[in-house]
Amino acid sequence: MSPRFVVAVFIGSLVAITCRWSGRGGTALPGLVAERIAPNFVEILTNLFVSEAILITGTNGKTTTARILSSIFEESGSLVVHNREGSNLMRGIGSALLSSIPKLWGTSRTSNGFHIKSHKAIALMEVDEAVLPYAVSALKPKAIVFTNLFRDQLDRYGEIEHITNLWCQAIDKLPSDTILVLNADDPSISELSFSHQGPVHWYGIEDPSIANSHDAPVDARWCSNCENPFLYELTISSHLGWWRCESCGRVRSQPDTCALNIRIGPEQAYFFVPEQGPVDLPFSGTYNVFNALAAISVARTFALSSEIIRAGIGKVKSAFGRQELINYQGRRLHIFLTKNPAGANEVLNFIASTTESPSIAIILNDGIADGRDVSWIWDVDYERLSGIVQRCWASGNRASDMALRFHYAEWPNPEATIPQVGKLLDQISEDTLPDEEIYLLSTYTALLELYSELKRRGVTNTSWWSKS
Ligand SMILES: [Zn+2]
Repeated sequence: MSPRFVVAVFIGSLVAITCRWSGRGGTALPGLVAERIAPNFVEILTNLFVSEAILITGTNGKTTTARILSSIFEESGSLVVHNREGSNLMRGIGSALLSSIPKLWGTSRTSNGFHIKSHKAIALMEVDEAVLPYAVSALKPKAIVFTNLFRDQLDRYGEIEHITNLWCQAIDKLPSDTILVLNADDPSISELSFSHQGPVHWYGIEDPSIANSHDAPVDARWCSNCENPFLYELTISSHLGWWRCESCGRVRSQPDTCALNIRIGPEQAYFFVPEQGPVDLPFSGTYNVFNALAAISVARTFALSSEIIRAGIGKVKSAFGRQELINYQGRRLHIFLTKNPAGANEVLNFIASTTESPSIAIILNDGIADGRDVSWIWDVDYERLSGIVQRCWASGNRASDMALRFHYAEWPNPEATIPQVGKLLDQISEDTLPDEEIYLLSTYTALLELYSELKRRGVTNTSWWSKS
């Protein structure tokens, strides 16, 4: 153990403790500081404290998949280290490991005096798409989940092909016993299997009734083998579905873990998984069926029983902001984080399938964490709800861009176009009656503002600040 590593862990832990004391838990700062002192500290901590590492990457669904999986592993009695506060860069992974040291390593008193005990944990890490190669070399994962690949924050990364190439290079360096858990319904994810010599576990949706008959803008994909466009027997959402390449014969793999008989309720989803049984998911949306399938797949590859999987899923709570119901002055605010076209389309589909004439507020910010370029709203299928929306509000520092988008989607004129989130809440109270339902779609930094505004107004029934 190098002195540099010891200093890095010592200083990093001090920073973690200070952050917690000052109420700023969950920041990536401890990892950032430790990384500056000893760039390889994540690798050394992993060797010391991690029995198996599981990485979860992809555009959407990382957090929810990790939440479900964490709950299942906890149910099995495993110690789990998870970067659950949402920082999925190396510094966030490092911070999660640093803050779990006290739980993994301590002294206990026996009749023979004190002795040091150390436990090994399962490291369950959400990994930013571009960070995967670094995470693979530091954590040497036993399994990697690839959820999906959508167009997201192009100003940060460039093309889909760039990410696919990064991933293939990372997969190339994996030991041959690493298991890839792949979404069979996403052709861009499926093609990763050609870069891997080891085992692949496929998951996907086998229920044709949830096919999206609406002509949503498909984020078109071409076969990397012969460069012809994929054909779809059925589309589920955007480019996800039952795909095949007519020219070279590449085709969606039959899933090892699949969902049948899917029913999407307003706050739950139910489906059946062969050899697992019925699944009663405590949150809604087709995208969450995919997330649950990904988590069940990993649990199965770790040979966890169907009883443990069922109990773990039953105890999981919705991830921060992904979908939350808040009572605000008697109004029911359904809050969703939307940060890219695919995620926003899923939410709009969900609203269309559960509500006849919804009231919708959208808060659009262009902070660094949101992606500075807001042109992605033009790829969202807001037209899906034209003629249905009862009333709408535009907010955030790009409120007027949002109002313009409403106009082109033929939504009603907004009740208000107001940048300040606080004023939006006032306006919603003025325009609606108690018991009304309002869908509130927000980008990341706006969601933080919204929650702090709600907290200032004494609304404290949300998981964001009741969380430790
Ligand atoms: Zn082809």
